[in-house]
Amino acid sequence: MKTLYQQFIITTLSLMLFSTIVGFFLTNTYYHLVTKEQNDEKNVAIAQNITRYIESTPDLDLEHYLSTLGDIGYQFYVVGESGYSQFFGGAFKTSELPPSAKETVFKGNIFHGMENYPNQSFMTGFFTNKIINTVGVPFIYNGEQYGVFLRPNIGLLFSEVHTILACLIISMAIISLIGMLFVAKQLIRPITQLTEATKQISKENYDLLLKVKRRDEIGQLASSFNQMTKQLQETYRSRKEFISNVSHDFQSPLLNIQGYSELLKSPSITEEDRLTYTSIIETETKRLSLLTKQLLLLTFLDQPTRALKRSSFALDEQLKTLIQKYLWLIEDSGIELYYKIAPIRFNGDEGLLETVWDNLLTNALKYNKPNGSIKIIVEETNDDVFIQFRDTGMGIKEEELSHLFERFYRADASRTKEGTGLGLAIVKEVVDFHRGSIRVSSQFGKGTCFFITLPKL
Ligand code: ADP
Repeated sequence: MKTLYQQFIITTLSLMLFSTIVGFFLTNTYYHLVTKEQNDEKNVAIAQNITRYIESTPDLDLEHYLSTLGDIGYQFYVVGESGYSQFFGGAFKTSELPPSAKETVFKGNIFHGMENYPNQSFMTGFFTNKIINTVGVPFIYNGEQYGVFLRPNIGLLFSEVHTILACLIISMAIISLIGMLFVAKQLIRPITQLTEATKQISKENYDLLLKVKRRDEIGQLASSFNQMTKQLQETYRSRKEFISNVSHDFQSPLLNIQGYSELLKSPSITEEDRLTYTSIIETETKRLSLLTKQLLLLTFLDQPTRALKRSSFALDEQLKTLIQKYLWLIEDSGIELYYKIAPIRFNGDEGLLETVWDNLLTNALKYNKPNGSIKIIVEETNDDVFIQFRDTGMGIKEEELSHLFERFYRADASRTKEGTGLGLAIVKEVVDFHRGSIRVSSQFGKGTCFFITLPKL
């Protein structure tokens, strides 16, 4: 498997090679299509200047003049009708000139060798030092017809520029390559760290947080990863706490049941003790049963794929039936119950909402005072239904209010009463499930009120 770093290097080098080849092709095509003709014209003009000078200077030493011009950067081939043939300013790579070229100039015409130089994909005509890649111009010298074939001496003209250009290109290539390798390392390092951190998380080690300094996509990825790690850390902590709470809450009733069953086996216990013990066992069994039901309900509510079984039902009827169910207990406890429930049809999960009202009503009863009261008010607007459960019970301390909806949380003052600490957690989940909200206000020693808002669909 190639690492990301290796892939980056290979891709970069391939891209550099590819761009050099494509660049070469494009430049070459441009030369053949545009520059070649202009180059030909320019060199013809230069050659004509030279021949004009030769023709207008009677006692000119032609060879001396042309070899001087050769030294400043031109290659010449001079032919005369009498058979004169001489090179100046450096040799050509191939010095075979087709006879037709000579004939052209001897007839007084211009030879456009540069313009007509054939297109070659892998060869830049500009640099090709062949005699057919010249321009030829006729001239008369000492009464005889001559022709001069000329092209710039690229080797001479470009020798320094060549070196400078080559140095520039090579140093650019090396510096950009080193730069890219460095940048690639910098880019890939956080990914390597991320991979390491992921491995640690798979081993349930959540302490590793990535240092995020960057603000780019990788920085965003690292900070999302950190957020995820914190979330997992929290989930892991609450899962452990939940398991320990569940184990504890199951353990104590089970120990009680075990202990009292042992005692029941003894033949010497009185009838009164037997009744006490069996009633304790019964209470503990009920507690275990309630705990199991509530845990199952919470597990259901925790499922990401859970779905509400919505249906339209008479909310007022549901509440009144519930009140009827607890009426004997309410009367038995000497508690006054008031209710003001408007006739309301609501579209929601009837079963889950019944659990909510049940929890709130039994809490209002359980944590009430002798001769206390409970008030239930249900109202609606066009968009929402508002439900209040108000009691004149023991109340909740200010600092305990924020924990009320946590699983297994029980306020100190209520510990003498039976309870699991799961009821309000379920209430909150169900209300959230209906996209509603729940709020509590309480005065310690005076009473508590739960306010629920449920949006209508
Ligand atoms: P529990 O089974 O203990 O009643 P809940 O989740 O229903 O569990 O309630 C959590 C805690 O909130 C209770 O233990 C109690 O301390 C407090 N609480 C709930 N309702 C009331 C209320 N109406 N009055 C006073 N305290 C309450």
